[in-house]
Amino acid sequence: MRKITSFFVLALFCFSSSIIAQEKIDNAVMDKIKTEGLQHSQVMDIIFHLTDASGNRLTNSPGYFRAANYAKDKLAEWGLKSAKLDPWGEFGKGWELEKSYLAITAPYYKSLEAYPKAWCGGTKGLKNAEVIAVVLKDSASLDEYRGKLKGKIIVIDTLENYKQSFKADAHRYADSDLIKMANASPQGGGRGNFQAPDPNDTAAMRRARAQFAQRGGGRQRVLAILKQLAVSEGAVAILSSSARFHDGTLFTQGGGDYKGTDPENFLDIVIGIEDYNTILRLTKAGTTVKLDADVKTKFYAKDLQGYNVIAEIPGTDPKLKDEIVMIGAHLDSWHTGTGATDNAAGSSVMMEAIRILKTIGINNKRTIRIGLWSGEEEGLLGSRGYVKKTFADPATMQLLPEHEKFSAYFNIDNGTGKVRGIYLQGNAACKEIFAQWFASLKDITDGTITVSNTGGTDHQSFDGVGLPGFQFIQDPMEYDTRTHHSNMDVYDHLSADDLKQIATVVAAFVYDASQRDEKLPRKELPKPRPAGGMGF
Ligand SMILES: [Zn+2]
Repeated sequence: MRKITSFFVLALFCFSSSIIAQEKIDNAVMDKIKTEGLQHSQVMDIIFHLTDASGNRLTNSPGYFRAANYAKDKLAEWGLKSAKLDPWGEFGKGWELEKSYLAITAPYYKSLEAYPKAWCGGTKGLKNAEVIAVVLKDSASLDEYRGKLKGKIIVIDTLENYKQSFKADAHRYADSDLIKMANASPQGGGRGNFQAPDPNDTAAMRRARAQFAQRGGGRQRVLAILKQLAVSEGAVAILSSSARFHDGTLFTQGGGDYKGTDPENFLDIVIGIEDYNTILRLTKAGTTVKLDADVKTKFYAKDLQGYNVIAEIPGTDPKLKDEIVMIGAHLDSWHTGTGATDNAAGSSVMMEAIRILKTIGINNKRTIRIGLWSGEEEGLLGSRGYVKKTFADPATMQLLPEHEKFSAYFNIDNGTGKVRGIYLQGNAACKEIFAQWFASLKDITDGTITVSNTGGTDHQSFDGVGLPGFQFIQDPMEYDTRTHHSNMDVYDHLSADDLKQIATVVAAFVYDASQRDEKLPRKELPKPRPAGGMGF
């Protein structure tokens, strides 16, 4: 901590000796924000409603709407204006698991922890099915399984490699990590020529591409052909191993397309790598393995529109009230946990930040707007839809009137860990401003400022059309080891003290942005980028 502090003292000294305008910080308001946020927090009550009480929040599914309606009603109750579920474009079908049972019945009984991937069909009743191991080489090699798949459950003949854990699940950034971030230089070099990140380039997409490349590229294509064959022959299901985690933690996402016209996907059930390996070893040893499977799923196709939650505190300054400061987070989740860290955490702290500001009774000059997005997990769809209809379409870069009136967007989507600083997203002109804002919060956060980009979440939708969009640096906690897109992304993996701190920092930042004489500085406008069509 000491090293970081001295870095900032030095940094502030350097700035103040050059051209830096002094930010007007209202310390009395900062104190009120800290007292309300740290001592009278309601963030854990909010997040209880978004997780335990709502269930999972897969986009367009009943749990999503339970949470979205709770958020909308709560924001209206706190006195926000225009609180609504705001359609952003066509998403596709909602989906819900109504029943899921999987167990080994031969050569002995063993119950299994198992999660069907989202948007898969079911088994149409209880089926007792023999397991068949399929070697996944190329499409021609699948010919040997033709005529053999009816009534079977398929496992792919690839043993997963279990690795013992020698590291703790949870960690916080060390001072040395933060110093490295603070000293990072903009990628691409040169002043102000930071490349606008591609909003199609989410962390999930990058990971999927990396896995795809690692496995020789064709594996996903051959798997798709195998699933077609399985459907045409009347197989029961295919098993996937949760390769990313072990010890009862299962990484599970979608099982395929979900647009209104898409057929339901072949049932693909994720089980832990330990169970997967047991089933595969037995099958390869010539033992007949049978499973009971009873899976019932439900699709919701009446309304294919996607909806964000939007609400605002109107500004009061005659000149600035039409200008907008936004905070947001994605509200949707995957379906096996309750998306506690991804991203009820972000949605709850954004709501709590708003509650703090309403409770202490600020007179915000600019309008403060909150956006809780859907469809983030499928490619930042809700925030991209909102940005496209409100500010600009990245494909054409024709600017709508509100583009000019926009100051900044602040996002939280890196789990439950407290704020250690902020990513500038290449917008170096904001560095000195944020340094001064953080200085008034130095009792609760390090205030590391890195010029680096971070990707994979909704601030990119704003950044992608040249609007200042920022994600905070947060302690990683158990995000990559336990909770990310897993059945362990549940309430108990949240850290209450961290969430209180995040909400307090966000409330301070949004207040500072709403009161500042000028809007926040911008980067150069990006060039139009006709849709790349990643197809995720
Ligand atoms: Zn996610």
